[in-house]
Amino acid sequence: MALIPVNIKDGTLKKNEIIVGIDLGTTNSLIAIIDRETNKPIVISTNDYELLVPSIVYLGKNQNPLIGNKARKYLVEEPQNTIFSVKRLMGKSYKDVAENHTIKSYKIIDDNTESLVKIEVDGKFYTPVELSSFILKELKNQAESKLNVQITKAVITVPAYFNDSQRQATRDAGKLAGLDVLRIINEPTAASLAYGIGIAEGEQKIIAVYDLGGGTFDISILKITDGIFEVLSTNGDTNLGGDDFDEEIVKFWLKKYFINNDISNSKNDLQKLRLIAENAKILLSKTNSFFVEYDYKNQKIKLELSIDEFEGLINNLVEKTIKSCETAMKDANLKNSDIDEIILVGGSTRVNLVKEKVKQFFNKSELHDKLNPDETVALGAAIEADILAGNRKDILLLDVTPLSLGIETMGELMDVIIPRNSKVPQSVAKQYTTSKDGQKNLRISIYQGERDKVSFNRKLGEFNLSGIPAMPAGLPKIEISFMLDADGILKVKAKELRSGIEQKIEVKPQYGLTDEELEKMLLDSLVNAKNDVEYRSLQEAKTEAEQLIYTTQRFIEKNKNELSDIEIQQSNKFVEVLNTALKTDNKNEILKAHEALNHFTKPFAERLMDKAIAFAVKGKKIE
Ligand code: AMP
Repeated sequence: MALIPVNIKDGTLKKNEIIVGIDLGTTNSLIAIIDRETNKPIVISTNDYELLVPSIVYLGKNQNPLIGNKARKYLVEEPQNTIFSVKRLMGKSYKDVAENHTIKSYKIIDDNTESLVKIEVDGKFYTPVELSSFILKELKNQAESKLNVQITKAVITVPAYFNDSQRQATRDAGKLAGLDVLRIINEPTAASLAYGIGIAEGEQKIIAVYDLGGGTFDISILKITDGIFEVLSTNGDTNLGGDDFDEEIVKFWLKKYFINNDISNSKNDLQKLRLIAENAKILLSKTNSFFVEYDYKNQKIKLELSIDEFEGLINNLVEKTIKSCETAMKDANLKNSDIDEIILVGGSTRVNLVKEKVKQFFNKSELHDKLNPDETVALGAAIEADILAGNRKDILLLDVTPLSLGIETMGELMDVIIPRNSKVPQSVAKQYTTSKDGQKNLRISIYQGERDKVSFNRKLGEFNLSGIPAMPAGLPKIEISFMLDADGILKVKAKELRSGIEQKIEVKPQYGLTDEELEKMLLDSLVNAKNDVEYRSLQEAKTEAEQLIYTTQRFIEKNKNELSDIEIQQSNKFVEVLNTALKTDNKNEILKAHEALNHFTKPFAERLMDKAIAFAVKGKKIE
C-alpha cells in the first residue's frame, strides 16, 4: 500500500464527495474530476465546449470581470484593462517583478519595495490573488453548471519551484473563489500521478518531468518513495516555449518572402502570420511539409516550410531546454541512467524534435507521452483529489495537520508558517524583521486557524524575544521555526540571526479542540473569505503606507541640506494626504495616496542615492 498524506480525522471529507483537480496555468487553466463510470480522470468542458479556459481576466468599466475566451478579444482592444499571465505575479514583490519585463500592457504598481505586487486598473487596485480567484471562480461555476452539483473542495497544482508565499497566494485565491483547497500539489507530481506513477506500494523511482508549454519551460527531477514525492531539483526558462517556435518561423518567412515590403510594420499582418506559423508547426508534428497561399496586398504568396527547415529553425531553442535538463541532473547529483521514467507535459512536447532530443539526452527509447500533454497536470490533480476523497482503497492515508499554524504579524494578521493539510512531522522556518528603529523586544504570538485576522483564530501561546541589539528598522533577521512532531507537539523557536539571541516555546495545537470546533473553523474561513481578504489587503495597505511615511520623514530629516525647499514642502504635503487617507480606512484611497507620495519622492531619492554611490566609489581603485 502506498502512503499519501491526508488527515483522516478532520471530519470534513465525506465519502464519494466530488473534489475537483485544478491546473491553474499561466496561459490556460483546466478543471478535472474522476468519471465515476470509468473511474478515470476527465477534464470538464466549459460552456463553450472548450476544455481550456484561457487565464485572462478583463476588468471592464462597471461590469463583472470577464474570464477566459470572453476576455481574450480585449487583449488587443483594451490591453490596459486585460490581465494575462497573472501566475507570474503570484506571491511576488515589486522587486521580483521588476526583473521580469515580459508583462507591460497593464499597470503593475512600481513601488520599489519588498511588499507584494498590485495591479491598477481604472483607479482600482487588484492583487494577483484576487485576479486568480476570478479564474478559479469561473472554473468552479462552469463545472457546477455542467455537473449540476455544488463544488467546494479542490486540489490545485503549482510549479515545483513555487516558494511558500507563492503557494500561500494560490491557496488564498482558492479560498476567495469559495473553494476549500485541500492540497496544493506540484505540477510534476500531478503529471506523474496521471500516468499512474507513484501510487503502487513500495514503489521507488526517480522521474524526470519535462514541461514545455507556450511560453515557459520547466524540468523537474523527482524521487518517489512509497507515495511520497520529493523534488530533487528543478530548472527551466520562464520565457521559452512554443510561441518562440512560431516566432522563428515568422522570421524565416519574412526573410524569404517579404524582404522587399513593409509587412513588419503592420501589427495585424504580423499577427496573422504568427497564427499561420503556429498552424504550420502543429501540422509538422504529423507531416513532413506545409504550404499555404497567403493573400497579401492582392498578391498570392505561397508560404512553405519543410520539416527539415522547421527543425533547423528551432534546434537552438530545443538545445536550450536540454542544457536546463543537464543542470537539473547535475543539481540532483544524478547520472542520466538513474532516471527511471520520463514524462512529457505541455502542448509543445508534441513537436517530434523535442521528443527525439529528450530521448537522446536521457538515453531512453520510450517516453510517457500518451496522454494529452495539455491535460496531464489537471488529470493528475483529479486523481489526487480522488485519493483525498477516500475513494481509493489501495492507498493508506498518513496523518496531517488539520488547521494552519502561524504567527501574528503587523495589522493583527495571521501569517501561516505550516499550512493546513501539511504532512506530519513537519519543520518550517521563515524570516521576519522589525518595523521600527532600535526595536529591542518582539512579542511572538502563535495561532491556529484559517482566518486572516488573528482574533478569529485560536491562540496557542506567546513569548517575548528580548535583548535584540539596537539596529535600524529592517536590519534584524529574525528566524521563526515551527517544528511539529509526529505526536502533534509544536516547538516554536525565534532567533535573531545577527546576534544569536533566541527563545523557545512548546505547545500542543490539538489539545482541547473538538471535531465540531474544527469543522466550524474551516467553514467560517470559507464563509468569510471575501471579508478576510479585504481585511488583509486593507491592513497590508495601511502597514505599507505607515512604513512609507516613516521612511520618508526619516529620509527628509537626514537629507535636509541636499533637498530643495519645494521638494521638502511637497513631500510633506503628500505625507499629509497619505495620513488623511489612512484615517478613511479606504484601501483604494490609501494605495492612491501611497503611489502619489512614492512617485514624487522617487526621483530625488534616486538622485541622492546616485550621489552617495558616486561618493563611495570615488578614489577607490578598481583592481
Ligand atoms: P500549453 O502552454 O501547454 O497549453 O502549450 C501551448 C503550446 O503548445 C502552444 O505554443 C501551441 O502552439 C503548442 N502546440 C499545441 N499543439 C501542438 C502540436 N500539435 N504541435 C506542436 N505544438 C503544439
